[in-house]
Amino acid sequence: MHNIWQQQLKQALSGRTSEKLRQHPDFSHAGDGLFKTVITDEVNTAIKESSQPHVLLNQFLPINRETNIHPDFNQDPVGDHNALAQQGIIHKYHGRVLLVASGSCAVNCRYCFRRHFPYQKQLASRRNWQAVVSYLHNHPEVHEVILSGGDPLTLTTQSLTELTDRLIDLPHIKTLRIHSRMVTVLPDRIDGEFLNWLDALPWRKVLVTHINHADELTHKAMGSLHRLKQHSITLLNQSVLLKNVNDDADTLINLSHKLFDEGVLPYYLHLFDRVQNAAHFEVSLSRAQRIYARMRSQLPGYLLPKLVKEEAGEHSKTPLI
Ligand SMILES: *Cc1c(COP(=O)(O)O)cnc(C)c1O
Ligand code: SF4
Repeated sequence: MHNIWQQQLKQALSGRTSEKLRQHPDFSHAGDGLFKTVITDEVNTAIKESSQPHVLLNQFLPINRETNIHPDFNQDPVGDHNALAQQGIIHKYHGRVLLVASGSCAVNCRYCFRRHFPYQKQLASRRNWQAVVSYLHNHPEVHEVILSGGDPLTLTTQSLTELTDRLIDLPHIKTLRIHSRMVTVLPDRIDGEFLNWLDALPWRKVLVTHINHADELTHKAMGSLHRLKQHSITLLNQSVLLKNVNDDADTLINLSHKLFDEGVLPYYLHLFDRVQNAAHFEVSLSRAQRIYARMRSQLPGYLLPKLVKEEAGEHSKTPLI
């Protein structure tokens, strides 16, 4: 009964696919203990094929520096907790709500700003889906539902169908947005069943991928993006500006062009959120702005992502120019 992608996900979550990573000389069990090492075969492939494997390794390999504690970093840098409207619903911005639809991901990114999020207690899952529907019913100003997590595409298509079936009767919902890293890290997730589900939805559909470096675009990942494009999904990408991953203008300019080749528009370039245990990824604001100025001088406006920061209590992401 398990699809190929479900088997791959299971292997990733069980730690089997991270064995190679564990043999790396910089691997630290101390870091692993704070936030499990999870990686997929597709990322292993990307590492193998990349001429600069550190741009991928640094995103997924736990290292000793993770255990450093910094007073200016914390467990909820973007104020998600205070913005929780009710279990699993983060309603921070006008007109759109974010559902924490899944607590797991196919990879664990070491810089993840939700690495300390209490997923067990704060999930909008099958079990409390009725409460989500009631919330949306009482908020007719909401026209966009964002499935996030964790990674919502770790849910089976059957679960996704059960969720969206309940939303069909809410006339004010116009757009369904999915935030997922699966398209590139576990591209087999974009299978026929999933595409059929998307096709049957009555709303505008947006999928926001999470790609930080062009070397994440494996052959298979590009195939999945191509399939999505054929099914009339708007494809956007968000990246995080990360030290020793993508903190130079040429890398990001190249990423924008490569994304566009695959039918994806750059959406956001996030300044790293100051989440505890990940301080070594931080790029200073002044350096971020220098990198960004060069990107702007080289890219057409439509390939320039918005440089933003997520701040607690704000009504939108904060632009940094
Ligand atoms: C980023 C974010 C959104 C979406 O914001 P957009 O500017 O529409 O992309 C919604 N809710 C929360 C809590 C967010 O962090
Ligand atoms: S895929 Fe997204 S939510 Fe999951 S660990 Fe990476 S950054 Fe965090």
